[in-house]
Amino acid sequence: MSRAMIRCPESGRMIYTGVNLEWDEVAASRFVGEQLACPRCGATHAWNENDIELDEDGCGD
Ligand SMILES: [Zn+2]
Repeated sequence: MSRAMIRCPESGRMIYTGVNLEWDEVAASRFVGEQLACPRCGATHAWNENDIELDEDGCGD
């Protein structure tokens, strides 16, 4: 499984959503009302499936 990441709009860094998915699952998924307390900037970011990028090779954090 790959880690589903979103980009923090404040810091521009990728942050882990706590969800593990593959791309076919991202395409089939709908995330509604998801919010993430951001470890980068301290704000809470709303996100959905359109925001997801997968960390497949372990780069970035
Ligand atoms: Zn943030």
